[in-house]
Amino acid sequence: MLELKKLVDGVVDSIPFDITLSSEGISDDIVSGSAEVKGEVVNHSGFITLRGELVPECVAVCGRCGREFKYTRPVKLYAKITDKLANEDEDDFVLMTDYAVDLVELARSNWVLELPFRFLCKEDCRGLCPKCGADLNVADCSCDLKERDHRWDALLGYFEEDKKDT
Ligand SMILES: [Zn+2]
Ligand SMILES: [Zn+2]
Repeated sequence: MLELKKLVDGVVDSIPFDITLSSEGISDDIVSGSAEVKGEVVNHSGFITLRGELVPECVAVCGRCGREFKYTRPVKLYAKITDKLANEDEDDFVLMTDYAVDLVELARSNWVLELPFRFLCKEDCRGLCPKCGADLNVADCSCDLKERDHRWDALLGYFEEDKKDT
């Protein structure tokens, strides 16, 4: 918990924070590592804001080629802190209980929200050959991929439709 009593009482104008957050339970695709969560909570004469950044130093598994790669995509943190959440309907308010906020929970939930739909070692990862399993990033194989699995044809059409709209 991040103690904010001094800030609320006006003893200090800001409270910095710098914690290390474990990546455990964040995503099945992140195999190890942690994130540094850094920033500060500021009292703007009455309303309190939290600003910071979460920087992962993790190892994740690519969803296309299955290789492990370094995952470091940062996440911006921003929240307004209040002690009476019931009266607020905005999303970015975070509740302060007994002059403290749960920084770990706040950082974790923001991180999970910002995770990619699919982890890729690089944007244009070519993945593995569906026939022989060769890593196509390394070398082309000699498989004839025109003869594809027809169960996916409907889906293929769907994506092409999608492209026309945009
Ligand atoms: Zn990959
Ligand atoms: Zn192949």
